[in-house]
Amino acid sequence: MGDVGREGAGLTALLDLADAAGRATLADEPGEQHEKDEGSYGGDRDHGRHRDNGNDQGWTHLPQHRDLHGTAHPIESSCRRQPGRRPLALPLMRPGCTNLPGMRTGLLRSLLAGTVVALLSSCGGGTSDESDAGRLEIVTTVSPLTSIVANVVGDRANVTGIVPEGTNSHTFEPPPSAARTLSRADVVFVNGLKLEDPTRDLATKNRKNGAETVELGTQTLPEEAYIYDFSFPKEEGKPNPHLWTNPVMTARYVEIVRDTMVRRDPKNATTFEQNAAAYLAKVKAFDAALRVSTATLAPEKRKLLTYHDAYAYFAKEYGWTVIGAIQVSDFEDPTPREVAALIDQIKAEQVTAIFGSEVFPSPVLERIGKEAGVRYVDELRDDDLPGEPGEAGHSLLSLLRFDYVTIIESLGGEAGALKGVDVGDVVKDTARYAQ
Ligand SMILES: [Zn+2]
Repeated sequence: MGDVGREGAGLTALLDLADAAGRATLADEPGEQHEKDEGSYGGDRDHGRHRDNGNDQGWTHLPQHRDLHGTAHPIESSCRRQPGRRPLALPLMRPGCTNLPGMRTGLLRSLLAGTVVALLSSCGGGTSDESDAGRLEIVTTVSPLTSIVANVVGDRANVTGIVPEGTNSHTFEPPPSAARTLSRADVVFVNGLKLEDPTRDLATKNRKNGAETVELGTQTLPEEAYIYDFSFPKEEGKPNPHLWTNPVMTARYVEIVRDTMVRRDPKNATTFEQNAAAYLAKVKAFDAALRVSTATLAPEKRKLLTYHDAYAYFAKEYGWTVIGAIQVSDFEDPTPREVAALIDQIKAEQVTAIFGSEVFPSPVLERIGKEAGVRYVDELRDDDLPGEPGEAGHSLLSLLRFDYVTIIESLGGEAGALKGVDVGDVVKDTARYAQ
């Protein structure tokens, strides 16, 4: 299991390299203002925002459409989602031109076959619009991966996430409409480690010529470093797949996405490299702040009991102990005997707070908290990015900051360093997120 540590050391070196090579550049229009989420560290919806010129980090802005080959690149469609601009909230409807659940799931196939395709593509989501000419179609699975890919590719490819936010990605079965989306993909980024096998298999079945599936987690972590634990026991053969909650591994995901995109679309290599360098710099700053904030808690207080078992690789990297997870491997509730054992364990370990998540409401965990006499914090976000697609705070780093600030403060630590990091996207995230 020491491989995780060695891997981490290697990745830190890579991050240093990215930092040194970088004074990372952003792919924005000269002088373009972009929004960043700086006023809020939370998963709440009141993101404090301000507009700035993006130079506060010492980055240099390059013209958006510059590339080494002098190729003219299309201007994105005017009705892409604008951060911070939310349409009226209707039940079951999220903002964004094509972000209607019914369209994406049950009706998408028929819509794409009919005249409505023009409507879809005018919103930047179709394939027949002129502005999409030459763009690769990238498909992802869970929203953390979509966020990473969106930051690397910017507006140079169309990115579509398949697994809806806020659903149980571990048991997710892709709907029939996903076959159509996957059949158009040039690259499918999945996590691997058996997280999305049904989607991966569907991608393989529907793959067009020349397309490929890239397993980010599988490429990041050697098999001997897989962690098996409470919700992911070895005898069931599915390792804990949550590598993206460990920023050191997040960085490796970024690099793999960058290298894949450079290989697949060399004419946009410079943009991918610049975006990735800027993003890696943010991940590195996040990693440093996380270590500072973690250090405000004595090691014996760094104990995690969560509902969803998403923090194993984070814990190993940052010196925490996962003392348990409530969600058992079949994603049902624990048995009364298991509950009693957990209550005993919480008392014995003297933890002061236990953590549920909004994706998996858990009356059982609430009861355990009460009976053990500890605080039950039910706010961790798992795969559900804060805010809405298109908003500045709707990002993986924003999610991680919210979770770790919540955890550290709930256990009595001080998370000022973490609150101070910039978790905004490095380019406008124009990906389509399933909802
Ligand atoms: Zn999960």
